[in-house]
Amino acid sequence: MNISRRGFMKLAGVGVASIGMSQLGLDLSPTQAYAAGLKIKGAKEVISICPFCSVSCHFIAHVKDGKIVSCEGDPDYPVSEGALCAKGAAMLSMHNSHHRIEKPLYRAPYSTKWEEKSWDFVLDRIARRVKETRDADFKRFNDKGQEVNRVESIFHLGTSQMDNEECAVVHQGVRGLGLVHFDHQARI
Ligand code: SF4
Repeated sequence: MNISRRGFMKLAGVGVASIGMSQLGLDLSPTQAYAAGLKIKGAKEVISICPFCSVSCHFIAHVKDGKIVSCEGDPDYPVSEGALCAKGAAMLSMHNSHHRIEKPLYRAPYSTKWEEKSWDFVLDRIARRVKETRDADFKRFNDKGQEVNRVESIFHLGTSQMDNEECAVVHQGVRGLGLVHFDHQARI
């Protein structure tokens, strides 16, 4: 019989629990009734990837009515075998937290207030500021006369919310602008 690691763990868990409880003469029906009311009952299982670091642990998201109701490590993923570190284990709260910012916030120079803005506004502004700064500070040659083609006045910080491929594309873009100062949030 072919059985996945996850299937085996489920079966083993049920088997051990059943044998242990029945040997003790316990009535399992209240436990079974409780299990039937669990929040993941009837939820769709979706395998996804933790975005926080390059280990890329798989996790199982339980989705009900279009919402994630539970996340857990995927025992079939060979690298982590179902384990998640504290960041990955907090995946559900990251997704559902009321602290999560879902719209761009902008704080004008010298202002003490954050204002909600549209994506068009913030993307146009970022693009304009990057262009102005690059035009003003682009260095073709260094002090020794060596060709360097670089910008030293912009720092770029990558995010763990992107996957490896997205990071690769952004890296090429950042390099293409001539930036030499950049890092990734996962290293902080
Ligand atoms: S942050 Fe933790 S759970 Fe997420 S991929 Fe890295 S090691 Fe895995």
